Parts: sequence; C-alpha cells; structure tokens
Amino acid sequence: MDQSEGSIHHKWMKCAMQMAEEALAAQEVPVGCVFIRHGRIIAEARNRTNELRNATRHAELEAIDCILSNKDLTPELRDYPLSDTSLYVTVEPCIMCASALRQLGIKEVFYGCENDRFGGCGSVLGVNESLTHPKHPGYKATSGYCREEAIMILRRFYITENTNAPVPKSKTNRVLKTEIKPHTRSPGS
Ligand SMILES: [Zn+2]
Repeated sequence: MDQSEGSIHHKWMKCAMQMAEEALAAQEVPVGCVFIRHGRIIAEARNRTNELRNATRHAELEAIDCILSNKDLTPELRDYPLSDTSLYVTVEPCIMCASALRQLGIKEVFYGCENDRFGGCGSVLGVNESLTHPKHPGYKATSGYCREEAIMILRRFYITENTNAPVPKSKTNRVLKTEIKPHTRSPGS
C-alpha cells in the first residue's frame, strides 16, 4: 500500500469515526460506518439498536437499507448490488453483518478494531472469505485504520454505561484504561 492509498483509507475511516461519535452522543454502542462508491460516500450510518430496540440495527445494516431503498443508488434488482462499493466501519463487522455483506457482494471492507466476541471477519469466524460458500464469493477485510480511536470510543461508552441504573454495579469506580494491546492477528487474515 502506498502513502496516498493509506491516507484515503484513513480519511474515510475518520468519517466513520464521526458516525461512531454520533452514536456515543445518542447513548448507543459507538460503531459507525460509511459506504464508498466511485470515490464518494453514498451512505453513512451508526448503531441504532437501543433507539429502535432491535439488536439487528447495526450501523452496516442501517446503511445497507438506505442504499437498497434508494432508486438512484440501486436502480435495478441484481445479485450483488454492492459489488462496486467498499465499506469503512470502526469495528470489525459481526457475524451477522459480515454474512449480509457477502450475500450482497461487497467489494472490500476496512475496519478499525477487532470484535473479539462477535467478529465475522476472522476474530470469531471468517465469514468474509475463509469459510467457503457454494454461491457467494468472499471479500477482503483489512483491519487497523483508526484502531486505537475505535477502541477508545468503545471504552468511553462502556465506562459510563449503567450509571443511571438503580443499583450501581461495580462499574462505578472504573477508570478509563488507555493502554492498547497490539493486534495479534495479521491484517486481513
Ligand atoms: Zn453487525
């Protein structure tokens, strides 16, 4: 990857981070994303699971709904409507989203930090490409853009979570950790 290509990825991930900040402000798990087609943002979204009381309303699926329901962005029905579209998302797509992206033929995915509990691009399951599928081709997923920022915004969320709970849990005296362990998995694996 050359310098200019890297800075473009960084630029789009910064836009995804802005959406994560918006999620944090709305007291949602702070994950944000942008979808890029032909060098411009065609959709941006953030997690809305609390607002909609719907655990499937992840940032990626919110944006996909916008793209598929927009006649200008998706003029006709076809097998892989995202084949010329790339995704930048602050956290590794979960297994559900990673599978949806594969079924819709996403071109490529870039993400900030790993999702150790639900990650579908290698952390838990390699839904993006290492699992074979009889119909849908795989896609490349590359981690590490704005990784520390993506981790820190999640920590900021979880440290303040449940402060309004009637019986405060042991979380009340938590301190924001700033140490970030290096990524142990090689990029894109
Ligand atoms: Zn998801």
